Amino acid sequence: MFVIFGFDEAKPEIVVSNQKKFCERCFNTNYWVLTKHQSRFSVFFIPLFPVKSKYYFLCPICNNGEEITADTYNRMINKQK
Ligand SMILES: [Zn+2]
Repeated sequence: MFVIFGFDEAKPEIVVSNQKKFCERCFNTNYWVLTKHQSRFSVFFIPLFPVKSKYYFLCPICNNGEEITADTYNRMINKQK
């Protein structure tokens, strides 16, 4: 018997933040977005569980931005409510 397993990338979650920020790359001021990228462990192409997540705070126009920690991400998401 053989098993096919691997990692796949879930569709990123994108949340528009309520923070306006100036982008040094495209020179626009806009509401930046928070994105969460999650890799999942899968067997036979069926995702089973998340293995790691990456979080970013990005310019919505040119995707310039930075990686942020899960803590920062959650704090910013909670501020939205
Ligand atoms: Zn930009």
